[in-house]
Amino acid sequence: MNKKEAERIFEATGALQKGHFLLSSGLHSSTYFQCALVLQYPEYLEAFCRDIVEFFTEEEEEYDVVIAPAVGGIVVAYEVGRQLGVRSIFAERENGKMTLRRGFQISPGENVLVVEDVITTGESVKEVIQLVEERGGFVAGVGAVVDRSGGKVNLGVPLFATYSTRAVTYKPEKCPLCMENIPLVKPGSRGLQ
Ligand SMILES: [Zn+2]
Repeated sequence: MNKKEAERIFEATGALQKGHFLLSSGLHSSTYFQCALVLQYPEYLEAFCRDIVEFFTEEEEEYDVVIAPAVGGIVVAYEVGRQLGVRSIFAERENGKMTLRRGFQISPGENVLVVEDVITTGESVKEVIQLVEERGGFVAGVGAVVDRSGGKVNLGVPLFATYSTRAVTYKPEKCPLCMENIPLVKPGSRGLQ
């Protein structure tokens, strides 16, 4: 899928929103990305995951399991696992630490593909990589639907994203949207001011 086509789908589904947003980092931005709004449609989930699967099977590599950090990555892990015909599991936080629950296991020597919906700093994905390696698994790479770092994030393994872009952010005191008195919105809630 090319960048223009991806953007068209993101905008049509409301996944890519334009305005004046307060991010969880405290910075302001003119765009906000809510990946769940695009992945709620099976045909788009399938299409974005197909790009990830095609990239990671170019060399005819075989995988044992696909894993994602909860919650956003779960549907991506499920669909990539379905297309590869392998197990699909997820890691979740317990007392702040990323762990495997529900009896999910990774055995020593397993070839593992880590997936995620949106990578921004990559912290959750790095924790999942560590979790896999602690259990003796081999992380072949990371596949994401969107890389919000614009390719800047370094995960220590190959990263493929179907769509890569760098989010433009502003410090509150230097935000041009604040200067224009555009109402600030905290995503997922109603207007702040
Ligand atoms: Zn602002």
